[in-house]
Amino acid sequence: MSATRPKLVVIGNGMAGIRTVEELLQLASGLYDITVFGAEPYGNYNRILLSMLLSGDKGADEIMLNTREWYAERGIALHAGDPVVAIDRRRKRVRSRRGVDVSYDRLLIATGSQPLIIPVPGRDLPGVIGFRSIDDVERMLEAARMHKRAAVIGGGLLGIEAANGLSRRGMRVTLIHRTDSLLNQQLNADAASLLARNLEARGLTLRLNAETVSLYGDERVEGVALADGSRIDADLVVMAVGVRPDIALAKSCGLYCENGIVVDDTLQTYDPYIYAVGECVQHRRITFGLVAPVWEQARVCASHLARVGHRRYRSAQTATKLKVTGIDLYSAGDFIGGAGTEDLVLRDPRRGVYKRLVLKGNRIIGAVLYGDAKDGGWYFELIQDGTDITPVRNRLLFGKHYCQPDAEQVGAVA
Ligand SMILES: Cc1cc2nc3c(=O)[nH]c(=O)nc-3n(C[C@H](O)[C@H](O)[C@H](O)COP(=O)(O)OP(=O)(O)OC[C@H]3O[C@@H](n4cnc5c(N)ncnc54)[C@H](O)[C@@H]3O)c2cc1C
Repeated sequence: MSATRPKLVVIGNGMAGIRTVEELLQLASGLYDITVFGAEPYGNYNRILLSMLLSGDKGADEIMLNTREWYAERGIALHAGDPVVAIDRRRKRVRSRRGVDVSYDRLLIATGSQPLIIPVPGRDLPGVIGFRSIDDVERMLEAARMHKRAAVIGGGLLGIEAANGLSRRGMRVTLIHRTDSLLNQQLNADAASLLARNLEARGLTLRLNAETVSLYGDERVEGVALADGSRIDADLVVMAVGVRPDIALAKSCGLYCENGIVVDDTLQTYDPYIYAVGECVQHRRITFGLVAPVWEQARVCASHLARVGHRRYRSAQTATKLKVTGIDLYSAGDFIGGAGTEDLVLRDPRRGVYKRLVLKGNRIIGAVLYGDAKDGGWYFELIQDGTDITPVRNRLLFGKHYCQPDAEQVGAVA
C-alpha cells in the first residue's frame, strides 16, 4: 500500500459501513488506504437474514456478504472482533481494545444500534438477550437445545420473527406485547387478529395487553412477571422492544450527538474529518431502523469520501416485510395516517386477506398488506413516485393487474 494515500478508518463492520466502502471502491478504488474495525468476529453479514438463520431457513454461510478474503483481495485491513475504544480527534487517531492504534485522514463511524433492554429487575440474568447479532442467534439456538420454554417481549416485526424462529426450533414460546394487538404500528385490529390467529395456529402463545414488571430466576432467568400478577415461566427471554443508536464512542470523543450522531445532508458530522452512516446517525431529527435509508446514506457518503460529492441525503419512505415463511405481510410509507388522510380498506376474512391504503389527496402515502402482499412493491413505487391515482382509485385495492391501462376492458369482457 502506498504511504502517500490518505487513510480512511471505518468503525463498524456492519451493513452501513461496508456498503459505504463498496460504493467508495466503485467510485474511486485505490483513493484511500482503508482500515475497518468490527466489534463482531466475522466478515460482513446480512443482519436482516438473522431471522432466517434463527428459524433454520438459512445457514450461516448463506447470510455472509463479504468474507475475510474479500477484504484481503482489496487491500483492506480488517480488525474483526476488535472494537475501537477511543477516538482522539485532535491527533486524528483511533485505538482498539487490543491496542491497535491507527491514524486517519477521514473517519467513518457506522456503529449501528443496540437492542433496548427494558429496565426491569432481573434484566441482567443469564438467558436474557436482545436480537441483533449472530452471537444472539447462537445463544438462542443453544437455549433451544438445552431448554424448552422461551418468552419474547415485543410484538413488533422483530419480536414476531424471533418468536417464530424459536418455535420452529422446538421451544414453547410466549409472545408478550404491551398493547391489545400485534404490530400495532402497522396493522389495524382486524389485520392484527388475522395475524394473531395464524401465529397461534403455529403453536405460539400470545399475551397481549401485558406489561412486564420484572424477570425472575436465580442462576439464570426462569420467567417473566407481568403487571396483572401472572408469571410466565421461561428459560430464555428475548427482548425485542426497539433499538437505540450506538453513540457511546462518538459521545466519548466529544462529537455532537442527540439521539444519534448528528449528521448533515452529506453524512458529515460536526467534525469535518468524520462521517457517520447507518442506525447510529440522526439526520434532521430522524433516526433509522431499516436498511433502505442506510443504503442511500452509504451512496451519498461514499460520493463525498470519493471527492465527487454533489449528492445530498434526503429521508425517504421505507417499506418492510415480515420474514416468517407462510405469512405474507408488507407495509410501506406512512401506514398510520392521521388528519387529512383517507383509508381504502379491503377485508376478506375467509381468505385471510387485509389490505389498507392510506391516501392523502390523490396520492398513496402508505400501504399495509396482509395475506396477499404481491403488489407491495408496486404500491411502494406509487408512493415514492407520488403518482396521481385518480384514474384507478376504484380498482386500486385489487392490485396492479387490475389497474393497467387495458384492465377495465379485460374486466368488462371477462
Ligand atoms: C433480526 C433483524 C432483522 C431485521 N430485519 C430487517 C428487515 O427485514 N428489513 C430492514 O430493512 N431492516 C431489517 N433489520 C435492520 C437492519 O439490519 C439494519 O437497519 C442494518 O443492519 C443497519 O446497519 P448498520 O450498519 O447501521 O448497523 P449494523 O448492521 O448493526 O452494524 C454495526 C456494526 O458496528 C459494530 N460496532 C459497534 N460499535 C463498534 C466499535 N466501537 N468498534 C467496532 N465496531 C463496532 C457492531 O458490532 C456491528 O457489527 C433487521 C435487524 C435485525 C437485527
